[in-house]
Amino acid sequence: MTTIKKITAQQRLDSRGNPTVQVQVETKDGFFRALVPSGASTGAHEAVELRDGKARDAATKGIDTKAYFGKGVMTAVGNVNEILGPALVKSGLDVTTQLKDIDKAMIDLDGTPNKARLGANAILGVSMACARAGAAARGVPLYEYLRRECGTESDPYVLPVPFFNVLNGGVHAGNTLAFQEFMLAPTGASSFEEAIQIGSEAYHSLKNVIAKKHGMPATSIGDEGGFAPPLTRPEEAFDLLTEAVKEIGGSDRVQFGLDPASTEFFDAEKREYDLGFKDKQPSKLSPDGLAQLYHHLAKNYPLALLEDPFAEDDWASWTAFTESCRNIPLEIVGDDLLVTNVERVREAVSKKACNSMLLKINQIGSVTEAIAAAQLAFSNGWAVFASHRSGETTDDFLSDLTVALNTGHLKAGAPARGERVAKYNRLLDIEAELKAKGQRVVYAGANFGRRGKAANE
Ligand code: PEP
Ligand code: MG
Repeated sequence: MTTIKKITAQQRLDSRGNPTVQVQVETKDGFFRALVPSGASTGAHEAVELRDGKARDAATKGIDTKAYFGKGVMTAVGNVNEILGPALVKSGLDVTTQLKDIDKAMIDLDGTPNKARLGANAILGVSMACARAGAAARGVPLYEYLRRECGTESDPYVLPVPFFNVLNGGVHAGNTLAFQEFMLAPTGASSFEEAIQIGSEAYHSLKNVIAKKHGMPATSIGDEGGFAPPLTRPEEAFDLLTEAVKEIGGSDRVQFGLDPASTEFFDAEKREYDLGFKDKQPSKLSPDGLAQLYHHLAKNYPLALLEDPFAEDDWASWTAFTESCRNIPLEIVGDDLLVTNVERVREAVSKKACNSMLLKINQIGSVTEAIAAAQLAFSNGWAVFASHRSGETTDDFLSDLTVALNTGHLKAGAPARGERVAKYNRLLDIEAELKAKGQRVVYAGANFGRRGKAANE
């Protein structure tokens, strides 16, 4: 039995230089920390990330609501220090076996359906740090602790295919590219370690290809460490990827992923998608026109995965598109659509809207709720794609959770920048540690989406 002695929170910075929440949990085994990530292309249905500029009671608590342009998180920090922490210490809950009860206690204290009162950023930080404390109490690595939470203890250990976001657009970059993420996935590698090498080599080769075509200034990068050259059409982006992969002799080992993050350029009233939303020139497409563009891309490039092809509430377009992909081996991932929320997953299952769920723990705001959403997705034959946020930290919790859930694939940005490589480096450590222990380790490879068999196969 290991109870919580004390919980404190602090305001720290994320990878965009914005404030975020750090939580520290103290038990008899020591101090355990977690840092909370933050999105830019956030879904309207996500749990609430409490920011001081918008927090109702911040000013009355003497918090400077204008600090960091209103993005301070001192209200959330205060909620950990004054409400969540004392309540969990008093509860006597055991971090070794009661993570679910700890999360439930916080959800009850919050009392809203979307964590609007205490903040998903406050609750998630505590949840993650408690999981770390629980792992230490059991004397096991975090992924082992989480395997028990996920009910995957008898599964083989699967290392995920990393989907490297090497070209950034959308709201993550200052270029005119509407689509947000162009990803390289070394599905033909034989280990995670080899996948990392392919990703790194392709990333550097891509830099050369971009410099040759667009000049060195075009090799500046976006929020997730990918390059952000002055492109407009998605074909231009995929052509650059194709050339970069060819240069390193990797054409038969690498597939592509795409996240247009289309909620960002959807006009719900007109039911139009504007691919020129960052430009002065509009470039509007109907949902049908956009679907045709995706089919064209899937036909001409090795596109294995497509995330958020349509906006978060444009259900009819999702359903029609998924149906139209019945005979194509394409993973169709719901991000803003599902927000790692069991209710949205249930709705999407009934509407046959997609065949995969993006897993972002801060969209729902606690570790065990995120696990429940993933389990529901798997039980419906879907894949689960684990994900970081564009505003990240050096926290590598995501890597352990990905292995524990056995998702077979994750995205954590480019194979560059500290907050991105923290996740990849942790996965390299896990792979090496398991092999050193003599455990059988499988690299997911071409079966990256197979844990839950895709609905349209
Ligand atoms: C995404 O849309 O998948 C993403 C990682 O971006 P953000 O964190 O800005 O939502
Ligand atoms: Mg997305």
